[in-house]
Amino acid sequence: MKYFDAHCHVQFDDYDVDRDALIAHMQEEGVGGVVVGIDRASSEAARALVQNHPHLYSSVGLHPNYETQESFDEAHVLSLLADPKVVAVGECGLDYYRPAEVTDELKHAQKALFEQHVEVAAKTGTPLIVHGRPAKGTMDAYKDIIDILSSKKKEYGDQLRGDIHFFVGGIAEARALIDLDFTVSFTAVVTFARDYDDVVRFVPLTHILSETDAPYVAPAPRRGKRNDPLAVIDVVRALAGIRGEEEGLVQAALVDNAMRLFRI
Ligand SMILES: [Zn+2]
Repeated sequence: MKYFDAHCHVQFDDYDVDRDALIAHMQEEGVGGVVVGIDRASSEAARALVQNHPHLYSSVGLHPNYETQESFDEAHVLSLLADPKVVAVGECGLDYYRPAEVTDELKHAQKALFEQHVEVAAKTGTPLIVHGRPAKGTMDAYKDIIDILSSKKKEYGDQLRGDIHFFVGGIAEARALIDLDFTVSFTAVVTFARDYDDVVRFVPLTHILSETDAPYVAPAPRRGKRNDPLAVIDVVRALAGIRGEEEGLVQAALVDNAMRLFRI
C-alpha cells in the first residue's frame, strides 16, 4: 500500500455510478482506506462493501448529527466489530457547528452518545474515529472531546486510541490530543487553505494520518466537485510541502501510522 485514506464514504449513493471502477483504480494506485459508517445502515453498507477488497476496511458508528434519529445499539456495534475487516468505532463525536440551535440538552445528548462509543471502543481495544466540529470562532467541541477522552484515558489507558478526523483545531488542541496518543488527520483543505500550516508543522510525523472525507472537500483543482479517495495523494503531497519534508518519507510514514492505529 502506498497511500492510506483514513476516512472516506465510498458506500454513499454518490458512487453508485462508478464505485467498482473507482475501487479498482484505488487498488491500481496503491490507495487503501477505511470506509466510514455514519449510522446503522451506512455502517452495514461499508462492511458489506469492503469484504472482497483487500485494500479496504470499514468502521461502525453513529455521527453526532444523527443523534436524534437513531440510538446507540451496543449489540449491533459489537456484532460488526466481530468482523476483522471492521477496524474502527466511528464516526462519532461532537458537532456544535451544524445544528441550527446548540442547546445544553443537545450538547448533553451528543456527549452521552460519544461516551457510549468511547466505552465500547476502549473495552474492545478498537480505535475510535472522532468527528469534532466547534461552533464558529471557538474550540468548544474540541474542549469537550479532550475532557471526555482524558477522563476515559485514566480508566482505560492504552486500550483507548483513535484518530481525530478532519482536524480543524489549533496547536493547543493538537498538543492535548497527541498527549492522549491520538492521531489527527488532515483533508484536501490543506491543498487550498493556509489556515492549518502551523498545526500541520507542529504535529509530529508519528501522529498524522491522511484522509479525504470523500465525497466531501475535493482538492484545489477540483474544488466543489465530488471528491474521491485518490485525492489522498494530493493531501500527502500538500502535507509534505507544508512541512518541508521529503514526499516519499511522509508518504511512507502516513501509511505506517494508519497500519499501526487500525492494526492492519
Ligand atoms: Zn466523515
